[in-house]
Amino acid sequence: FARLATGLKRSSDQLTGSITSVFTKRKLDAATLDELEDVLIQADLGIETAMAITETLRRDRFDRDVSGEDVRAVLATEVEKVLGPVALPLEIDPAQKPFIILMIGVNGSGKTTTIGKLAQKFAAEGKSVMLAAGDTFRAAAIEQLQIWGQRTNAPVISRPAGADASGLAFDAVTQAKAEGRDILIIDTAGRLQNRDELMNELEKIIRVIKKVDPSAPHATLLTLDATTGQNALKQVEIFEKRAGVTGLVMTKLDGTARGGILVAIARKFGLPVHFIGVGESVGDLEPFTASDFARAIAG
Ligand code: GDP
Repeated sequence: FARLATGLKRSSDQLTGSITSVFTKRKLDAATLDELEDVLIQADLGIETAMAITETLRRDRFDRDVSGEDVRAVLATEVEKVLGPVALPLEIDPAQKPFIILMIGVNGSGKTTTIGKLAQKFAAEGKSVMLAAGDTFRAAAIEQLQIWGQRTNAPVISRPAGADASGLAFDAVTQAKAEGRDILIIDTAGRLQNRDELMNELEKIIRVIKKVDPSAPHATLLTLDATTGQNALKQVEIFEKRAGVTGLVMTKLDGTARGGILVAIARKFGLPVHFIGVGESVGDLEPFTASDFARAIAG
């Protein structure tokens, strides 16, 4: 909790600072509620959550003295209510050998780093992991994954930059199966500036994976950069439509003022949130907990 509280400090400072400036020992009136609603919307929590919070206060506290602390308590309760149902662990079905995880997300969202962190976590659990450098578009991405593979002792299937990503995915699944690996994590490209091409490529990768194992991918995880704010909503929508998403990993929750976006995403899409990234190091991946997040963001 301490890491997340520190990480979300800028989000909560901004929120609680604004809340405090709205509630300077005043009776709760319509104007104050309006101001509060604006503050909550500006904190990226989403209109529905902002309204739910102000409605609760209107119902319970209208025309009475309300402190910033009272408001933060209502905020924490509402945030936890929204996030509770989506805070779900990533279940690795041991009957699937390999359990195939497809990692998707835009460039810079933390895909490759998250793969490294996951590889480390699974290796620590005694599972044998293989990685596939499916972002064949960028030589740097291939190299980066190879470094993560070395660090975590996971073999990395790769091809030279420019190679066909679906062909690589096919080879990786076939090899992981032949070697009896527990988990295969497939990296993918994320050049959103060429959206159609990218989405076609993702669909093709998925089709090819299914040729080897019709039940795969067993998890399709979307990484979202918490610092991008509202843009993340659009990303979920696009990837969800074209590639299907089974779960989310929100990265860079260390030091962002825009952490509230996770609440808006949870309410809009209801997709499971498995992990959060709280730093660049291999250990900086934490299971997602609604109560911790709610407490951290409400300050
Ligand atoms: P990709 O392009 O989606 O594969 O993104 P990368 O994994 O290369 O990450 C992009 C940048 O974000 C790198 O500098 C990472 O070190 C950094 N990064 C990834 N996850 C986190 C995180 O949870 N916190 C912080 N502070 N940085 C992160």
